[in-house]
Amino acid sequence: MNIAVIGTGYVGLVTGVCLAETDNQVTCIDIDDEKIAMLKEGKSPIYEKGLPELLQKNIGEGRLHFTTDYKEGLANKDLIYIAVGTPQGEDGAADLTYVDKACASIAETLDHNAIIVTKSTVPVGTNEHIKETIQSGLPVHVTINVASNPEFLRQGSAVHDTFNGDRIIIGSDDKQTLDILEKVNAGFDLPIVRTDLRSAEMIKYASNAFLATKLSFINEMANLCEKLGANIDNVSDGMGMDKRIGSSFLNAGIGYGGSCFPKDTRAVISVGKDADYDMQLLENVVGVNERQKVILVDKVMERFKDIQGKKVAVLGLAFKPNTDDMREAPSIFVTENLLEQGAEVHAYDPVAADNARQILSDKITYASSVKEAVNGADLALILTEWNEIKAFPLSDYKQYMNNPVIFDGRNCFDLDQLVGSSVEYHSIGRPTVYS
Ligand code: NAD
Repeated sequence: MNIAVIGTGYVGLVTGVCLAETDNQVTCIDIDDEKIAMLKEGKSPIYEKGLPELLQKNIGEGRLHFTTDYKEGLANKDLIYIAVGTPQGEDGAADLTYVDKACASIAETLDHNAIIVTKSTVPVGTNEHIKETIQSGLPVHVTINVASNPEFLRQGSAVHDTFNGDRIIIGSDDKQTLDILEKVNAGFDLPIVRTDLRSAEMIKYASNAFLATKLSFINEMANLCEKLGANIDNVSDGMGMDKRIGSSFLNAGIGYGGSCFPKDTRAVISVGKDADYDMQLLENVVGVNERQKVILVDKVMERFKDIQGKKVAVLGLAFKPNTDDMREAPSIFVTENLLEQGAEVHAYDPVAADNARQILSDKITYASSVKEAVNGADLALILTEWNEIKAFPLSDYKQYMNNPVIFDGRNCFDLDQLVGSSVEYHSIGRPTVYS
């Protein structure tokens, strides 16, 4: 099929590349000249495992193209995917500015019938709005249909997830549109769920809201474990063996961040308000997460009382491992708090330092290795569980730090590993170890 993908961010680029890999002719459109110039040269603007190889392969084999020009990008396309950002607006609702702009550009340009497929996460009812907006701007002989095809990829394993996900959701109120989308998605060889338009939009929000709930739940249990002398790792293991509960998303930590959970939970609350329904559970999920973000700094202040002038090593800046994405990363909040307390922050992240610099500027020092960050530090905070950080030996903290006190926001080490390490170790939901 001939496909256009609008937006070449984490979702749009991965979608475009993977649709090309499954034998479609794909043109990706973005308004960012720099990004498109990079992509034309086969360079990925984002850090995502396996993406550069597939990008270059599909460009080389002539199935994948990039442009900033809607006319060129939409020419002869049967399917037009919208994958632009839907960030959080000031009132918590999803900001649909980018979606509206993309729709306006489609309406101005499209000269043939096509199906508009929304990948962006949008509030229930948005696809109907998209259909009306575009259709009303088109010449009378051009007709569009719309479908919702929400995205479930995880940053850090996005390409793998596209070919190995649990399901593909396609929603439309038009049977022929669903048939076509089912055919296009057959190449991924995954279970396909056909639904109506509004349910597809709702599935995405409900899924993210549920996962965020699981995280806030286990974080709340972790905080209680600390008060009661239990160990959250053991609790999670014991709970996760129950198939009704499942073991994923039961890792206690310093709260969820990233480009999806924070904004999507708030968007659902906002959608509830618009529908005159109070989302009590989700309000508290968000509240628990806000509290969790400060927990590590609280622990630091309780232990040290004053960190003015202390050298603090921050290990990991990305909101999770295997991505360079800093959107809503807990590290931003933690680092700013440490700076407010007068600490001197030396941070290390294997790939997110450039993106972090755009947010945290030169208020902190960017180290080029874990060893460099911890060297001479008075305390260290682990904020992202990169393998490289998990593999840094405890004995090296003892060797290089001025004072080997670790605050681990991701429970990277088993407490047994601490025995004999001479490291003071504070973590989440587990007893503090003074070895
Ligand atoms: P992103 O911010 O990484 O990328 C968006 C891209 O769209 C940018 O390159 C931007 O330049 C481009 N763009 C904006 N307006 C445009 C326009 N009018 N025409 C062409 N291009 C335009 O966003 P993302 O993380 O890929 O997320 C996209 C959507 O997918 C969001 O709704 C998000 O909630 C959803 N989603 C994201 C993830 C994720 O892990 N990132 C997972 C599932 C769903």
